[in-house]
Amino acid sequence: MAKENNQNEKQIDFSTSWYKNEEYQLKDNQVIPKSTSIESYDPFDYYRDPLPGWMVEYVFGNEKKGRKMFIHTSFASLDVNNNQQILNWINLFGFPFFSFLLEEKEKRKKLYENKEGIFFPNSIMTFSKKIGRFILHTNERKNNLSLDVSRFEKDGLYLEEIKEEIRRINVILELSEVKKGMDLFSLSNNANDVLSAWRIYVPQFRELGEERGEESELVFELTVQKYLQETFNLALEAVSPTISFEKQETIWGWRFDSLLAAIYIMLSSDISNKLLPRRCAYVKCKTYFKPGREKNIYCTPECQEKAKTYRSREKKKMEVYELWKAGKTLEEINNIVKGEKSRIKGWINKFNKWGN
Ligand SMILES: [Zn+2]
Repeated sequence: MAKENNQNEKQIDFSTSWYKNEEYQLKDNQVIPKSTSIESYDPFDYYRDPLPGWMVEYVFGNEKKGRKMFIHTSFASLDVNNNQQILNWINLFGFPFFSFLLEEKEKRKKLYENKEGIFFPNSIMTFSKKIGRFILHTNERKNNLSLDVSRFEKDGLYLEEIKEEIRRINVILELSEVKKGMDLFSLSNNANDVLSAWRIYVPQFRELGEERGEESELVFELTVQKYLQETFNLALEAVSPTISFEKQETIWGWRFDSLLAAIYIMLSSDISNKLLPRRCAYVKCKTYFKPGREKNIYCTPECQEKAKTYRSREKKKMEVYELWKAGKTLEEINNIVKGEKSRIKGWINKFNKWGN
């Protein structure tokens, strides 16, 4: 019986199973395993089907209750200013990658320890190191990924190196989205960094120089294309198809050495199926979701409703601000702008404070 179990485990190793410690903790600037007990699960279970409600609540709390999330969209939706949220996610799914490059230990320490907001969006150097294959003595590797996980997780990861990858996916999704609309001016600083650094690899850019107009839109599109292509292909290099023969069944799967690589398979599949995860347009939500219809810009009908209220409130606030600037009194403003008296009073108090 024991022998049979052993064989089963080997088969799991060879499919899409992934391993994680039972629990992790935050210590200084690092996430480290709290236990030595290893669990296995299939990340693709949470790609085919949404995360169960309790998982969404466990990671994000009540705030995102009821959101339809997947493993990759939940990673992208993590708030980089919320360490607890990141820890919660890792408690469910394990490390996105390993600190297995031991010779780089000092380098990593220098780069990530006691620092905040480290991310060079235009560089895929650190990405290639995190996502790459285990380089082990070949005899050791074979089918013992669970052993590798317990060995390589011991060191822990710097929070900043994890955040770097959340930010990278945010930039990738942002760039994939605006490609169609060519909305150059609303881009984040990180996305702008990518574009200015990568356009030199676009031949058309070298020909045109800094010229504006239609040509620069073409350069913009080609640069986005180039960046996405290089980044995804780097990630997919670390992935290979596998096949397992289990009793009567033959099962195709993926072999990957980091959860991050699996997340990139999911993203590339979504992009090629035109189901690109999109960031909810409601400023207070920003959850990534898979849009069912092309026109969905909100993750839920609730967010659509809240965004509408938010917009009309912002409009009213601007109106009140203009009146306040023109020297109108609270009473006069209340007579012009109807309703929400207590809110108007609150705004004016704020304006007064800012004014001083
Ligand atoms: Zn939303």
